[in-house]
Amino acid sequence: MSIQILPQKVADQIAAGEVVERPASVVKELVENSLDARAESVDVYIGDGGKTLIEVRDDGLGMSREDAEKCVLRHATSKIKTIDDLFSIRSFGFRGEALAAISAVSKFELITQTESDETGTSVKCSGEDEPKISDASSNIGTLIRVQDLFYTTPARLAYLKTEETEYRAIVKEITNFALSKHDVSFKLFKDGKPTLDYPATQSEQARVEQVLKSLSTDLLPVSGKLAQNELTGFVCRPGMCAKSKNHQYLFVNGRRIEDFKLNYAVREAFLQSAGIEKHLHPVFVLFLETDPLLVDVNVHPRKLEVKFSEPREIFSLIKNSVTTALQKSGTNQAFAPRTPQFSKPTSASSMSAPKLNFSDQNAGRNFNVPSFTKETEVKPEINSPLTLIGQVENKYIVAQSGEGVFFFDQHALHERQRFETFWDEYKKKKTQVQKLLTPQIFTFTEDEISLLHENRDEIVKLGFAISFPADNEVGVSEVPAMFSEKDLEQVLQDIMKYLGEDQVGEHVQDLLMRKLLEYKACRGSVMFGDPMKPVEMQKLLNDFETTQWRNLCPHGRPNHWFIPFGELDGKFHR
Ligand code: ADP
Ligand code: MG
Repeated sequence: MSIQILPQKVADQIAAGEVVERPASVVKELVENSLDARAESVDVYIGDGGKTLIEVRDDGLGMSREDAEKCVLRHATSKIKTIDDLFSIRSFGFRGEALAAISAVSKFELITQTESDETGTSVKCSGEDEPKISDASSNIGTLIRVQDLFYTTPARLAYLKTEETEYRAIVKEITNFALSKHDVSFKLFKDGKPTLDYPATQSEQARVEQVLKSLSTDLLPVSGKLAQNELTGFVCRPGMCAKSKNHQYLFVNGRRIEDFKLNYAVREAFLQSAGIEKHLHPVFVLFLETDPLLVDVNVHPRKLEVKFSEPREIFSLIKNSVTTALQKSGTNQAFAPRTPQFSKPTSASSMSAPKLNFSDQNAGRNFNVPSFTKETEVKPEINSPLTLIGQVENKYIVAQSGEGVFFFDQHALHERQRFETFWDEYKKKKTQVQKLLTPQIFTFTEDEISLLHENRDEIVKLGFAISFPADNEVGVSEVPAMFSEKDLEQVLQDIMKYLGEDQVGEHVQDLLMRKLLEYKACRGSVMFGDPMKPVEMQKLLNDFETTQWRNLCPHGRPNHWFIPFGELDGKFHR
């Protein structure tokens, strides 16, 4: 075999595979270029899922004729000059590869003009032919038209999915850009019809409302700072999590990244405060600003992943900021005094445009009770105590306040209250342990014992002193003060249940303790189906007022349903 140097175009076509995988990656590269050129408005036209047409028009700086001729060459970039520039990069692009790659695998046309030029320039490339340069009339800015993507590489073309799927991937890209650049206007057209229209907004919040639509009614503001890292954005209220992970957006210096660990930091904030059901996922849009020197965006050619120099710091920043946001949404203060300023209960049907307006002042003073049904996404502020109406089917407690009627799941309500008491106790005197008068020995199966063995360190950190006197035995001589001796076997069972079921990640100790306390709270609570005396029910209602995450059971399920009087009246056309 003799060695040959590949012709430039073939090399470009091979290289194109790294940058251009599908129409959405073309859209991403082109829009990034528009934003790097400081465009204020970007319009994207798609034909047949991007297979026949991808056109991006911007009102950015445009290119001079000289630059326009160069930009389709490989390693043609105006954004970096030396390798060191790579580490302080603030622009999206820097490889100088995208236009070379795209023009190598499509029928490519570019029309551009700068403010200082009299006339515009058109550059046309197609397959292996040399670029054709000519005068063109143009607005200030750049238009790039990519037709018949991959027509030179049929094998790649064959890999594309259906037009609809490719189109949806494009929508995702535009959505990411829209969220990260609220001051730029974006439009998307599908086969000639407008499908997305996001005019520029004054604030991130307004853009989030445009993009997330009804989901944005329930977002809480997030902000936090740690070292050179600053986090801002929004997270959904507890109890308003979504069934899919599709609404989780994390941006680093304006670039959308997908990092499942960092997404988990948000989940962990829920897990350790309000609780979250296993099948649900927090909705969030978070913006992390950090020193570009501390992130390496160069690890992935399509730049979805980044490498942080201090990943743990970022994890804590996200987790702690989200926890703070969630905490502000609950009231951890005593029940508000009865002030005359009731907010008028609004009925869902009469709600106008969604607004994010959760000031700290509101969070502290008022009694925000989100109702959880889709039909009534209203958060009336309630400033009056709950009075008992009665019990239904030995399952539900019915009560009223000055604002409406509550239906409580008696078990979920009691469980939440007990859980919070235990959790507070644990947080306050974390390491208190109690020595048993006589150590206790329990017999378990080999599998169970090995589970305890493997996780011994974590169990010891919680305050248990355990030993393994024989193959299938475990001995316990000390327990955390909150578990009594008679619960012990059950508690060990709970530990094994948790260790067996759940993936144990970071912060094992807290997660494990949380589970144990959830089990403990559940076991001692009034059951669904237990008859209750009025005084017992009234006690739960009184405690509801001072419970922090009063809307949810410890596992994140809603524990009540609230109907504002206004809505009730509406039902009877009053
Ligand atoms: P990179 O973005 O990595 O520099 P590209 O191949 O994407 O590489 O673009 C090459 C160069 O072409 C850019 O550095 C920029 O100078 C110019 N360019 C591309 N698109 C535009 C645009 N929409 N407006 C102005 N200049 C552009
Ligand atoms: Mg680029």
